[in-house]
Amino acid sequence: MSIVPEYTQEVKDATDHLYKLVKDVIPPMEWEVKAPYIYRINKLKKEKNVVILAHNYMTPDIFHCISDIRGDSLGLAREAAKTTADTILVCGVYFMAETTKVLSPEKRVLISDPSAGCSLADSITGNDIRMLRKEYPGVPIVTYVNTTAETKAEVDICCTSGNAKKIIDSIDSDRILFVPDRFLCRNMQTQTDKELIEWSKGSCEVHELFTVDSINEFRAAHQDLVVIAHPECPREIVEASDFSGSTADMIKFVEERRPKKVLMVTECSMSDNLTGLYPDVEFVRPCNLCPHMKKITVENVLETLETMSPEVFVDSEVIKGAQKSVERMLEVK
Ligand code: SF4
Repeated sequence: MSIVPEYTQEVKDATDHLYKLVKDVIPPMEWEVKAPYIYRINKLKKEKNVVILAHNYMTPDIFHCISDIRGDSLGLAREAAKTTADTILVCGVYFMAETTKVLSPEKRVLISDPSAGCSLADSITGNDIRMLRKEYPGVPIVTYVNTTAETKAEVDICCTSGNAKKIIDSIDSDRILFVPDRFLCRNMQTQTDKELIEWSKGSCEVHELFTVDSINEFRAAHQDLVVIAHPECPREIVEASDFSGSTADMIKFVEERRPKKVLMVTECSMSDNLTGLYPDVEFVRPCNLCPHMKKITVENVLETLETMSPEVFVDSEVIKGAQKSVERMLEVK
C-alpha cells in the first residue's frame, strides 16, 4: 500500500498551478485528496526518468496534472518513441501500452492496470485474421489501431480514425477487409467506392451507446449547439452531427472554430479535459465513460511508479510483425 503525504503547504505550493487547469471539474475537497498523489508522482517520475503518457480519455487529474505527453493512442506511442526516458508509463488501456512497446521495444513500458481492456481490441485475434485470409483470399486487411499487437502483426496495414480514408485510398484493391470496428467501417464506406468488408463482432462499447434521440434532446435543450461525433459512433449518430472526426480532429475543431456550445459525442472525460483549455467554450456533456480507461487512477499510477510494475511484455516476433503494419501506415503520404 502506498504511503502518501498529507495535503501540506509544501504539496499545495507545488500543485496550485496545476489546479487552475482542473478547478472547473474537480471540487476543492477532492483536489486535497488527489494533490498529494500528484505531488508524489511528479517527484518520482523525475527521479526514475519515467515519461507518463495520457490518452485523451483519461480523467483531468491524470491528463493535466501528471502526464508529459497527451493525445490519441498512436500519437502517444510515436512521441514516446522519441524520448530519452528509460521507462514509459502508459495511462490508457492495454492495447495502447502494447502499441507503445511495439514502437519502443528497447524501453520498459508500464501500465498501472493490465486488465484495462477495450471492446474493440478484444473482438478480434490473430487467429481470426488468419481465418479471414482463408475466407477472403487475396483481399488486403486493414486494422484500426485499437487492436492487440498480435492482431496488428497479422494484417497488411494499420490505420487510425484520422487517416483511415487515406489508408483505404492507398490500397490497390477494390475490396478491403476493414477490421475490427464495424461502425468506423460503415462511416468510411460512405467516403469510398471500394467495397469495405466489416467484422461484425467489433464495436466500441462507449460510442455505440449514443442515440439520435439523445442528440435531438440536447439540441432542443441548448440553442445553437454544435454537435461533433467520433467515427466509432454508429452511422446515424454521425449523420445527426455537424462534424465527425478523430479525437485529434475534434480538438482541432474546438481550437479553430471556438463554438459557443459544443456536444462532443465521445468519451466524457475528453470534454472535462478541454474545459480547462478553452474556458470560452461551453461543453455540454453526454456522460458515457469508458470503464476500461477509468481503471487508471492517480492512486494506482503512484503505486506503479513506486514498484516499477506491472510491465508490458510483447513477443519479439509479434513486435516485428506489428511494426511492419504500423510502418506501412506511416509510409502512406
Ligand atoms: S472508449 Fe471504446 S475504443 Fe476506447 S478503449 Fe474504451 S472501449 Fe475501447
